[in-house]
Amino acid sequence: MSPWTGSAIEEPALGRLATSPLFARVSRFFDEAATAVTEEHVTLVEIPSPPFKEQNRAAFVLKRFREFGLSNPHIDDEGNVLGLLGSPDSISPFIAVAAHLDSVFPEGTDVTVRREGRRLYAPGIADNACGLAGMLAVARCFTELGIVPPVPILFVGTVGEEGPGDLRGVRALFERNPLGPGIGTFIAFDGPGIERITTQALGSRRFEVKFNGPGGHSWANFGIVNPVQALGRFIHAMSFYKAPVAPRTAYTVAVIEGGVSVNTIPRMARCEVDLRSVAESELDRLEIYLQAAARQAAVEEDRAARLSETRVELTVTAIGRRPSGETPADSPLVQMAREATRFCGHRTVLDCGSTDSNIPMSRGIPAITIGVGGACAGCHTLDEWYDPVNRETSLRRAALLLLGLAGAEASS
Ligand SMILES: [Zn+2]
Repeated sequence: MSPWTGSAIEEPALGRLATSPLFARVSRFFDEAATAVTEEHVTLVEIPSPPFKEQNRAAFVLKRFREFGLSNPHIDDEGNVLGLLGSPDSISPFIAVAAHLDSVFPEGTDVTVRREGRRLYAPGIADNACGLAGMLAVARCFTELGIVPPVPILFVGTVGEEGPGDLRGVRALFERNPLGPGIGTFIAFDGPGIERITTQALGSRRFEVKFNGPGGHSWANFGIVNPVQALGRFIHAMSFYKAPVAPRTAYTVAVIEGGVSVNTIPRMARCEVDLRSVAESELDRLEIYLQAAARQAAVEEDRAARLSETRVELTVTAIGRRPSGETPADSPLVQMAREATRFCGHRTVLDCGSTDSNIPMSRGIPAITIGVGGACAGCHTLDEWYDPVNRETSLRRAALLLLGLAGAEASS
């Protein structure tokens, strides 16, 4: 089902909205709330939210959803926090607005904000305390101004967007949450900026490739299989893979480990490999190559060993999987997002990324990821900073897009 029935998608409707008294009220709200949004942003980032430990930040967002008066505010069994604007009984598919709760930083990281002029320094300040603050700002704007659009808007703080989380929150939202099947459009708020609209989901598959052997003394047991050598054969084979430029595909042997001392034939060697592509078929191909290269490496090591009775044991374990997908550039969602951005005085750039939108895109549900304004640098590092320049323009853009998608009346 598509939520774009009726007049909501027609360009003049968005034009009328952009020049309506309703949108003027929305714009004024964001200007007046600027300081409060910044303070809430600081509060959010100072609540640590490491992978798999997002519950304190989720509890704060839940408290805010309750204060705003969203319906059915709750935390689901995966840890996502949800609140609905509009009636859950509406027959229209919902619009989901999601921002991820997790940061990449481990427990114990100092997340105290340091202010230098307009700049806010703290790990996770941009990715993604910024998206969360933007989501709360939009939810507060709509509820305080009494805007209840015909199409319900589901606000979601998701867990597990970053690496090890493997999109567990958004996956659970679509696979297990009773509200999941009602989502017809998905918009993720992730990071700063206004011009970037992510319409392509970069898929990835991650594997641990591990070789085990009997191990022994480097002199006394010479001739038995060597897991480190098997791993070397595997890595060598991987380096010959011809990854296509289009559809863009990449692979990285990222982590290696093995051996205990210089005079010991190791018992174990392992590596972690990251495969990425915008096309699922290329990921299939690359995975087949990886599996074959690992088997071949084991066979060659067995063959090369002087003591032919020893064998390496190979295990390949999937440690991450993010599907690829795309929301076409000519889809109503992308067109309306570009239109809303133009109305707010900015150009748009369509790009590709690995975000919460990967899951809805892979399921054929129109989805995009957008920034919520401001500038940043040093994402995923301890030097991360955020500057709220242009943030109000970006929040206006997000609100205009949501009002347009949700079929709000310009006259209301
Ligand atoms: Zn992010």
